[in-house]
Amino acid sequence: MYDIIIIGAGVIGAFVARSLSVYELKICVIDKHIDAAMGTSGANSGIIHAGYDAIPGSLKASLNIEGSRKMEKICSDLNIPYENCESLVVAFSDEEKKVLEQLMNKGKKGGIKGLSIINQEEIRRLEPNLNRDITWALLAKTAAIVSPYKMTINALENAANNGVEFLREYEVLEINKENDIFTIKTNKEKLRGKVIINCAGVFADEIAKMVGDKSFKIIPRSGEYIILDKSVGPLVNRVIFQTPTKEGKGVLITKTVDENILIGPDAKVISDKALHETHSDAIDYIYKKGLKITDKIPLHKSIATFTGVRATPDSGDFIIKESISCKHFINVAGMDSPGLSSAPAIGDYVLKLVTPMFLDITMKKNYTITLPTKKYFSNMTVNEKKEAIKENNQYGKIVCRCENVTEAEIVNAIHMTIGATTVDGIKRRTRAGMGRCQGGFCLPQVIDILSRELKIDKEKIQKGDDGSYILTRRTRV
Ligand SMILES: Cc1cc2nc3c(=O)[nH]c(=O)nc-3n(C[C@H](O)[C@H](O)[C@H](O)COP(=O)(O)OP(=O)(O)OC[C@H]3O[C@@H](n4cnc5c(N)ncnc54)[C@H](O)[C@@H]3O)c2cc1C
Repeated sequence: MYDIIIIGAGVIGAFVARSLSVYELKICVIDKHIDAAMGTSGANSGIIHAGYDAIPGSLKASLNIEGSRKMEKICSDLNIPYENCESLVVAFSDEEKKVLEQLMNKGKKGGIKGLSIINQEEIRRLEPNLNRDITWALLAKTAAIVSPYKMTINALENAANNGVEFLREYEVLEINKENDIFTIKTNKEKLRGKVIINCAGVFADEIAKMVGDKSFKIIPRSGEYIILDKSVGPLVNRVIFQTPTKEGKGVLITKTVDENILIGPDAKVISDKALHETHSDAIDYIYKKGLKITDKIPLHKSIATFTGVRATPDSGDFIIKESISCKHFINVAGMDSPGLSSAPAIGDYVLKLVTPMFLDITMKKNYTITLPTKKYFSNMTVNEKKEAIKENNQYGKIVCRCENVTEAEIVNAIHMTIGATTVDGIKRRTRAGMGRCQGGFCLPQVIDILSRELKIDKEKIQKGDDGSYILTRRTRV
């Protein structure tokens, strides 16, 4: 019997779990996938928005601003790569400049600091590669970038270190309630709990329907991206948005915390909520839209493309409240952008909703809100590298040459509390396989290490979800 069952191990479920994990409550996070961050939280722009975009007074606006304020400290506490790189929204005409002014005024009303409109000369000084027909830009000094999958995994790791259980490959099929106790039928066993928190991303409306709540609908909207190799260098130094339109924020160009360049996303209403594939027409569209920002995009340096699916609510705003049709069932739904930026604030908001549901609730005597400080080998100084190798000679073996990931880091990723069990799990925790060769070199070694550490046959090692085997049989004895 759990006190709380959180459905969904995306960034929202992870931060809700982290906030609640400091209390004496029996909590589990369940996900139908084999790992955390396998939904939208693993496929987005990774931007911590300054918060000027949403309608003032909306949950989106207030939680974005609060999340953005908290983010640097949380990223430092949880070893999440973060950079306060600033952002520009660029305009090509005086007409568009008016939109920038509206955005700035909206942001200032919400108390956002560091907003200003800059002219061509200043734009050129800050971003020499942008096209010359950009006339004005809104500079947001508080905008930042993070690693979205590390943010999710590390927040859940923190919660797990405080005793929260993470149940992988548990798909919710049916929810029943009797005598104030929920029973969740999954593809594995049945789970019983007193409170359910629905953080199921694009599927949140379907989960809500299982308790008779049809009060909202999630409209899935895909966004595709191109990633350029880090050898491109600083094509842009900030997040560069175009002036937003009715359709949304439009195609942006940004550097990532790992020094790649990201171009995208487009926005299409789709029917398949589980869409993962990319499409040549969308990639073509993104590239052409990106060229409006800078005509110096070296497309031949593209190393990967991916798709994320936005959970756009029909109400327009985040939905964070107890269900109108079912007591003790809390929807945390409609988490489209800026859900990532708001996640830590959403965790604390949900905490305030949930704690009054438990009488005599107490805080744990021993809990932590940090993870042990860990530096990537690639970010260590020469002396730090020597020390690391002296302590553990697995630091002396580079497995992923593109990203300089060592065997020690891969072994550590497997043995964390919510350790990696798949090749993609290693990739999201260490970046092994995310570089220019996309795993062409390190994949066999990653399989070897997973097989050795998890004590399972190499043929059983999966790329991601169930059945995604990489090796099918031995070719030599
Ligand atoms: C293209 C794009 C760009 C974006 N860019 C940004 C950005 O730059 N900045 C920003 O702040 N936000 C951005 N966002 C929004 C942000 O990514 C989301 O708000 C956030 O990731 C939502 O997290 P989540 O945990 O709600 O959903 P998810 O990460 O999708 O997690 C939901 C989880 O629920 C699980 N689940 C669903 N159904 C079931 C079931 N039946 N049983 C068990 N588990 C289930 C899924 O497997 C999934 O893991 C972007 C989104 C997209 C699509």
